[in-house]
Amino acid sequence: MGEAKSEVEEKRERLEAPLRDGWRKLPHSLLIFEPATSLYYYTGDWRTFKPVRDRSKCIACLLCWVYCPEGCIYIASDGGIDVDLNYCKGCGICAKECPLGAITMVEEEK
Ligand code: SF4
Ligand code: SF4
Repeated sequence: MGEAKSEVEEKRERLEAPLRDGWRKLPHSLLIFEPATSLYYYTGDWRTFKPVRDRSKCIACLLCWVYCPEGCIYIASDGGIDVDLNYCKGCGICAKECPLGAITMVEEEK
């Protein structure tokens, strides 16, 4: 009867198994039970700066929409752009890319 394996030995064995057995023996993982669940994660929760648009400067060229990594810029009813602050993480890319300087990053109030 052999000695019981330590926790570290068991982990090492599990990690080395794919190298030993090949990729066909990899366990199935990353099961997706429901699509589009990222909608439940409000990336705006951890924002410290928010974009504010100057409507008099904006020509609705939509460059900010192209560059926004969160896809949270949308066309407002007045034809300009607006931001869904639930998902805006305050990165400031839109303000940086706007050719007319129509977006200013403003610190959030507590
Ligand atoms: S990039 Fe600037 S000018 Fe163009 S739509 Fe956005 S805010 Fe308006
Ligand atoms: S600050 Fe970043 S996340 Fe928010 S609207 Fe601008 S580009 Fe998008």
